[in-house]
Amino acid sequence: MTVDEILNLEKFTFENIKVLLGSNGEDRTKLFAKSAEIKEKYVQNKVYFRGLIEMSNVCAKDCYYCGIRKSNKNLFRFNLSDDEIIKAAEFAYKKNYGSIVIQSGEIQSQAFAERIEKLLIKIRELSEDKLRVTLSCGEQNFETYKKWKEAGARRYLLRIETSNKKLYEKLHPQDGNHLYEKRLECIYSLKELGYQLGTGVMVGLPFQTVDDLAGDLLFMKEIDVDMVGLGPYLEHPDTPLYHFKDSLLSKEERLDLSFKMIAILRIMMKDINIAATTAMQAVDPIGREKALKIAANVIMPNITPKIYRENYKLYENKPCTDEDAEECQSCLEARIAMSGNEIAYGEWGDSRHYQKKNENSLF
Ligand code: SAH
Ligand code: SF4
Repeated sequence: MTVDEILNLEKFTFENIKVLLGSNGEDRTKLFAKSAEIKEKYVQNKVYFRGLIEMSNVCAKDCYYCGIRKSNKNLFRFNLSDDEIIKAAEFAYKKNYGSIVIQSGEIQSQAFAERIEKLLIKIRELSEDKLRVTLSCGEQNFETYKKWKEAGARRYLLRIETSNKKLYEKLHPQDGNHLYEKRLECIYSLKELGYQLGTGVMVGLPFQTVDDLAGDLLFMKEIDVDMVGLGPYLEHPDTPLYHFKDSLLSKEERLDLSFKMIAILRIMMKDINIAATTAMQAVDPIGREKALKIAANVIMPNITPKIYRENYKLYENKPCTDEDAEECQSCLEARIAMSGNEIAYGEWGDSRHYQKKNENSLF
């Protein structure tokens, strides 16, 4: 089947997706044009801001790809104070961002759970419940997710990283603390609790194949996600996977594949929220703008206090570690206008996909 024929199908099969992921030249342009057309029709040219607060780089996990993994001794570990987090949330609220994301290394303790709960309540108060809060604090038990939901969190980002269990096991220590099944269970718990669910993968990982990526897209469709954040895998010298750096696709190829992934996803799941991720910008200074043109409708300006950013390096060359939140915003405003999009200030930007499901469930 040709790319033209595939793009006119109602539903993509595994084989169709593989063809699209391998498209080049004119076919690739057609894929991006189709995705942009669907984006325009279903989510228009609005870009939603999520102020990103990188709360702490303390992590109990040891993922083989990540620069802030527990065993990396080559960095200063920080933990923002409650006051710093509240100030960042206030900044987002005053700037009319509509929404923030609190992201952190993974800590599964009672104290951590309670701290997040208190912060959620404070943020709700300071914003009169007008700031949507997304959490991205890794795997937790059902009770903790439930408490956080009750305290005001509405969305949760937990990337599956790869939907291929065997590959997942190669990317994580097999010590009982990095189980694929547990990751899945968390994803299902979040769904059951009624969170707007975000997941995602890294693209261009060592040992990853096009089959894996096609499987990832079908996985996202299958679990019916509301939001997706995906981007190129970027090697970090202080991680075990760095050893395989010479076997990787070039960074440009990883980025291009990421663009194809979000384009196919936009066509498959028309009204979800898709992020233009920072990892895309790490490869190409206008990587996020390209993503916004093709398929994405969400961007996450970093509002972590500048002094800590240097230490939240999940990968090499992470951009914007030397800017403060104001600078970050004005830079983004210009960039988004350039991409033909418009910032939706003051809007929550809930995933339409999620909204529709909930409207339907009323009947
Ligand atoms: N600890 C939480 C959230 C912080 S990590 C969690 O793991 O869910 C956020 C994301 O950063 C991860 O989900 C992973 O997809 C991404 N990441 C980590 N290391 C990376 C790397 N080397 N290249 C690209 N993305 C990376
Ligand atoms: Fe920790 Fe998340 Fe990095 Fe894994 S990806 S080491 S859980 S911060």
